[in-house]
Amino acid sequence: MKLSEFIRPASLAEARKSLRQLGPKGMPLAGGTALHFMPGKTPVTAVDITRLGLSYIKQKGDFFVIGAATPLADIQRYRGPRWAMHEICRRISTHQVRNVSTIGGNIARVFPWADLPVVLLAMDARLVIYSGKEKDMPADEYFSSQPARLFRGGDLLTAVKIPVLKAHHGFGSVKATRNATAFSLVTIAALLELKGGIIKSARVAAGSGIPFPQRLKPVEAALAGKEASTAVFREAAAAAGAAARWVGGEGMSADYIRQLAEVSILDALERAAEFARGRAA
Ligand SMILES: Cc1cc2nc3c(=O)[nH]c(=O)nc-3n(C[C@H](O)[C@H](O)[C@H](O)COP(=O)(O)OP(=O)(O)OC[C@H]3O[C@@H](n4cnc5c(N)ncnc54)[C@H](O)[C@@H]3O)c2cc1C
Repeated sequence: MKLSEFIRPASLAEARKSLRQLGPKGMPLAGGTALHFMPGKTPVTAVDITRLGLSYIKQKGDFFVIGAATPLADIQRYRGPRWAMHEICRRISTHQVRNVSTIGGNIARVFPWADLPVVLLAMDARLVIYSGKEKDMPADEYFSSQPARLFRGGDLLTAVKIPVLKAHHGFGSVKATRNATAFSLVTIAALLELKGGIIKSARVAAGSGIPFPQRLKPVEAALAGKEASTAVFREAAAAAGAAARWVGGEGMSADYIRQLAEVSILDALERAAEFARGRAA
């Protein structure tokens, strides 16, 4: 993607107005780290959204609210009660990339390797979109297909709302890579609600190794109402094959990626259960 001009609006309303006027000749620009991965030789005008007050993390009622222009490094460093987002952020690329990549940029246009959509699907997050006024939508709807569809008319993602985990809720994520900074081969995130050792509800999501991030409903169904034990987690992980279309790549077969997913699901579930029991590492 080539940039021809760069404009710096003073407000969200001004940014949206500029984007609406520019149409396909304009684009919101946050950290700019994805430009390299975006095809297109026609130069576009970048509308800078990094100085609109969208970089913050705060707890508001039952949610942590993260501004869309918050760098991943800030999310990695933040600590709040039963906060779990730092775990995946520290697994994304390098310090240099995390210092400029924003949460909004990671999820406004989803690339196959994006890790945050997986975590936000498992966490049942809500995504806040500005279209003259703000409204939010559940992650299931937002990630039902490429979210870039939502921003073509100049609207902007302004925040991500993550439910504060209650007692007996546990979260775990696993990113399988070839090396520490590589793109993901398989990313898994799991949220468990336990009651007296029994799984009351489960949300399990995957990304990479499949065409687009999604929840693994057969895995979730194999967990509901059962005991939170390794045997049950192993059985649920075995439902991965029926849950998604696993695809090979980088010299690995689809079958290998599915097996990697099964192991990663087991690991994520064990971590989520430990978190729920208050014993997270
Ligand atoms: C070497 C390298 C390795 C990486 N590895 C990983 C990895 O392993 N896992 C991972 O998850 N990520 C990884 N990333 C980061 C990821 O791929 C994206 O580059 C990054 O998340 C984009 O964030 P950004 O703020 O730079 O967005 P930008 O590049 O500024 O924007 C990305 C897209 O989102 C749009 N956009 C941005 N903000 C908004 C908004 N608020 N509202 C509407 N549209 C918006 C832009 O118009 C553009 O289309 C890596 C990046 C690099 C450079």
